[in-house]
Amino acid sequence: MIAATQSTATTPVPFPARVVVDCGAIAANVGVLREHAGSAGVMAVVKADAYGHGLVPAAQAALAGGASWLGVAQLTEGLALRAAGVTAPVLSWLHAPGAGFAAAVRAQIDVGVSAVWMLEEVAAAAREVGQTARVQLKVDTGLGRNGAYQFSPDGVTRSDWSLLVDRARALEAEEAVRVTGLFTHFAYADAPQHPTVLAQQEAFADAVALAERAGLRPDVRHMSNSAATLTTPAAAWDLVRPGLAVYGLTPAPEVGSSADFGLVPAMTAIASASVVKRVPAGQGVSYGHTYTTTSPTTLVDVPLGYADGVPRHASGVAEVLVAGERRRIAGRVCMDQFVVDVGDLPVSAGDDIVLFGPGTRGEPTAQDWAQAIGTINYEIVTRFGPRVPREYVGAQPEHPASGANGQET
Ligand SMILES: *Cc1c(COP(=O)(O)O)cnc(C)c1O
Repeated sequence: MIAATQSTATTPVPFPARVVVDCGAIAANVGVLREHAGSAGVMAVVKADAYGHGLVPAAQAALAGGASWLGVAQLTEGLALRAAGVTAPVLSWLHAPGAGFAAAVRAQIDVGVSAVWMLEEVAAAAREVGQTARVQLKVDTGLGRNGAYQFSPDGVTRSDWSLLVDRARALEAEEAVRVTGLFTHFAYADAPQHPTVLAQQEAFADAVALAERAGLRPDVRHMSNSAATLTTPAAAWDLVRPGLAVYGLTPAPEVGSSADFGLVPAMTAIASASVVKRVPAGQGVSYGHTYTTTSPTTLVDVPLGYADGVPRHASGVAEVLVAGERRRIAGRVCMDQFVVDVGDLPVSAGDDIVLFGPGTRGEPTAQDWAQAIGTINYEIVTRFGPRVPREYVGAQPEHPASGANGQET
């Protein structure tokens, strides 16, 4: 007989919503991206918990689909992949001083380096560990974000890029680091005709030439995110670096829809209807009564809110699929719940309410949500928070790490 206190601590109870992630779709999407990449490899970007899909299972699915690299923003994400037994090459590119590069060196994670101080910290970590660090130098060819600036700030001073390259070459000579890659990032890849797209390709070619003249011999040179992978094949170099498209979404309607490219959205967000009740005309709904019923109707309470990643801006505008029909959110999205006015549709407590998914059963897509609330689909999927359990379906990847993570179905 187990004491009540123990059983409450160990017995899982269901959460009334779930994010279903189709691993087969992720693998197939990587296949589509490989075709676009031509002879270049695919680095699947799995930062931000794989855009909300779950870091390790999504990474395994991407590798099963033929990705040869994984990309993350934070070192903690790269280390989580290693801890789960993922042995594929990993690049991590966003760091602040005191990042803890010794752990990266030990875990054989490539460190994306955008500044000389970063390079010095990586080299110090390499000496401490007694192992050569793998680094990839990031050049700012015009995005104006991270990366070492490629251009002279005043036409006289040496550029940050040429200083970084020379320092990297010196540190290679003492075997503190090895430069395994060179990379940059587009500002306007979702507008392929924008003049910066070509200008950045030319600038990157110059940056690569400068580095190679200085004696660097990188294995991989890369610049293409999802949009560039899908629309600008000339930018593929040795590796493309898509994130969003791995999950079956496209960066902007102007680039084309998921269906145009044969990509399948991998995430479906579903909640179980909580309280379902009949109300008369004239009932205000949710905080501030920004919606009022106009006839006798059925209100359905849906147990997901802005704390879970349902944007408050979706109040009164985004639609969900309920009893086979699309219905708009009525009134304000609250922290844990929102309400849908379903009229006379037959809905019972416990019925599935689909917020968004691939769209194949009539449900809205993440892109529909983004359009309704004036944001990008990236924000819709990445903001689904850790309170909502992920359920993994579709072809399970064959990977030594799959047991370590467990299938959370
Ligand atoms: C996020 C990110 C990517 C992936 O971008 P998508 O638009 O999702 O394909 C690629 N490279 C870098 C440096 C990034 O930060």
